[in-house]
This record gives sequence, C-alpha cells and structure tokens, in this order.
Amino acid sequence: MPAADHYLSRSGHAAQAVAESPFTIEVRFTGGLSDRQRAAFASAADRWSQVIVGDLPSVVVDGETIDDVLIVAEGADIDGTGQVLGQAGPTHLRPESAGVAALLPARGEMTFDSADLAALQADGSLDDVIAHEMGHVLGIGTLWEAKGLLAGSGSGDPTFTGAGAVAEWGALGGSGDVPVENTGGPGTAEGHWRESVFADELMSGFISEAGNPLSRMTAASLRDLGYDVALDAAEAYALPAAAPAGRAAAVRRLARCAVTVPTAVVLPGSSLLG
Ligand SMILES: [Zn+2]
Repeated sequence: MPAADHYLSRSGHAAQAVAESPFTIEVRFTGGLSDRQRAAFASAADRWSQVIVGDLPSVVVDGETIDDVLIVAEGADIDGTGQVLGQAGPTHLRPESAGVAALLPARGEMTFDSADLAALQADGSLDDVIAHEMGHVLGIGTLWEAKGLLAGSGSGDPTFTGAGAVAEWGALGGSGDVPVENTGGPGTAEGHWRESVFADELMSGFISEAGNPLSRMTAASLRDLGYDVALDAAEAYALPAAAPAGRAAAVRRLARCAVTVPTAVVLPGSSLLG
C-alpha cells in the first residue's frame, strides 16, 4: 500500500473516541520522509489537536480552502547531521479582520534535514522534536511578538505576558511573567520557554531525551494567542526543582532547536470565508 500523501489530525479525547476534534491539522507530505517519520508528524498533529479544540474561520490560500491549518512537510538534504535542522514556522497568517483568530496561522512549513531526522530517530527524540517544531508552526515563539505578548525583547530577560500562561506559571510555583529563552542566538532566544527554568518542557529551547511534556502552561499560551484550548488535555509537568528526585538531574539535553523561521504573509480580509 503506498504511503498516504497527507494526514488529517483526529481528536485524542478518549471520551469522544468517535468524534473528530473541531480543530484539524492537515499535514501534506511532499517528499523525503520515511513512513516512520510521517508517523511522527501524524502523532504530533494528534497531540496538538487534543489541546486545541476550537474550529477557526476557514480561509482561502492560493485558491485552496483551509480548515484549520495546513502544514507542508518534507525531508531534504541540507548540511548533514548537526547544525541546521531545517525550517519550521507559519507562512500564511489569518487576516487582521479575523477577530480572535487574527494572525493565527493558516498554512505553515516544516522542512527538515534528512540526516538530522535519521539521527533523531536513532536517539529516540524524533516524536518530541517534530511535536516541538509543529508548535512553532502553530505560533509558539513565532507569533509572540506579532500578538504583543513578548516583553523585554533584547533585554536579556525576555518574558511572555499572556494572562493564561502567566497564571499557569504561577500554578507551577513561578511569579511574574513567564521567563523566555535568553540564550542560543536567533531562532532559540526569544522563541521558547527558558531552558534554565523549564528544562524538559516540550517548548523549551532544547529537546531533552524522550518524555518532553506539553504542559498546561504551553496549552494556556495557545489560548493567549487566540485558540480555543482544553487545558485539561495537557500533559503532566512540574518544574525541575519539583520533579521526582533524580529526574531533573537525569534529563539529558539532546539538541538545541536549530531551525529558521520562514517569512509569513498576512492574508487579505477577502480570504476569509463566512
Ligand atoms: Zn524550537
């Protein structure tokens, strides 16, 4: 049987085993990915569509109707193992006139170095890395500035100011706005939760060995961006200081998130469908 050329996310809610999540991520595979690698994209799409549960207004991009996000995924020969992992981020954003969905991604791109994908698969971190990069396509770290939710850019102490994530940071034991990565240079700094604080959380700037939780704080940050979110679908997470004995010390950082973010265009108001 030939591998499918696309994947539509499904809801992972056990109680709604038959129901589709109203939020659909379509992953379109355009080449260079093995079946195992495609499976990583499929499970990542399912993981995010468990926490994002609300339909977004459909838009037309290049003559194609998109409900809710289309991600074009491919493997490519870039520079061998290490260094550049690839490119990941939104390429088309909903129009400013889309209300609460203004600027939320309609289409995005995930292109990864085939050599790096093979290495990630070998060390067991492929699924978490693909989920992490898909988080960037959905707007985590890539839309913070555009949505006015990043404070202290360039100051050495950047923070995320969205009320939902700030509340969950407080519930974890933090105070004030959420610490954002301040090291690692362009692509890592100001686009992730701060590694020194959040360690193995999925959207910190370094991927740890398998088991990087998608926390309530990350889910809440998606609500701050404008998505309809089910916080209770997030995964169990604690700050390293509160983690089970040995866990924090045992976490091995495997790779810095080394992707470039494509330039995104804001779609015209006429692209919105009813
Ligand atoms: Zn990243």
